Amino acid sequence: MNILLVEDDLELGNGVRIALEDQGLALLWVRRLGDALQALDSRPFDLVLLDLGLPDGDGLTLLARLRREGETTPVLILTARDALADRLAGLDRGADDYLVKPFALAELVSRVRALARRSYGMAGETLEVRKLVLHTATMRVTVDGKLAELSRSEFDLLSLLMKRADRVLTRRMLEEQVLPGGASNESNVLDVHISNLRRKIGPGYIRTVRGVGYVIDRVDATGDVS
Ligand code: CA
Repeated sequence: MNILLVEDDLELGNGVRIALEDQGLALLWVRRLGDALQALDSRPFDLVLLDLGLPDGDGLTLLARLRREGETTPVLILTARDALADRLAGLDRGADDYLVKPFALAELVSRVRALARRSYGMAGETLEVRKLVLHTATMRVTVDGKLAELSRSEFDLLSLLMKRADRVLTRRMLEEQVLPGGASNESNVLDVHISNLRRKIGPGYIRTVRGVGYVIDRVDATGDVS
């Protein structure tokens, strides 16, 4: 497990480093956006912990570049900016999770563990629902043959829904299985991911079951199975 920590705050960075190393997790800590980009070019990481306010730029730049290049490495954003707009911007650009500063280091460790579990153990299988095809081994999703660029969380969410097509998955179940840190009453992270997914794979796949959760139907509402 290789973790890249991008954080310019010395005290916080040190705390995170010690907490993760105590757990036996390997970590590279950089304090500038430029160093982070260089590190990512030099070798793969299993997880990126990303501060947004960096001395030489905005962490979101790095996230956007990763996703543009098709990198699905999970990204956990560490931010003091807890405004809703910032969270949405991050999720929209493919972040997997958020921690708002100040946070408990134990909470960070548990989220890191959750994201790490999802990075491993993907068996090779292909799931198909109508024109939607998901390959678990390569983590590629195509819609009618065209590649859809999904974040790690969006991919995990979609693969869970496709594995259990025709069965309604409750919000709680989806949050627990897919979102690190599990369900949270005030969290709208699930809604944001679903809305991003719908935009990326197109309408007609993910159906809302009001007050319960979501389902992907093998046959769409119009009865079209093509
Ligand atoms: Ca900072």
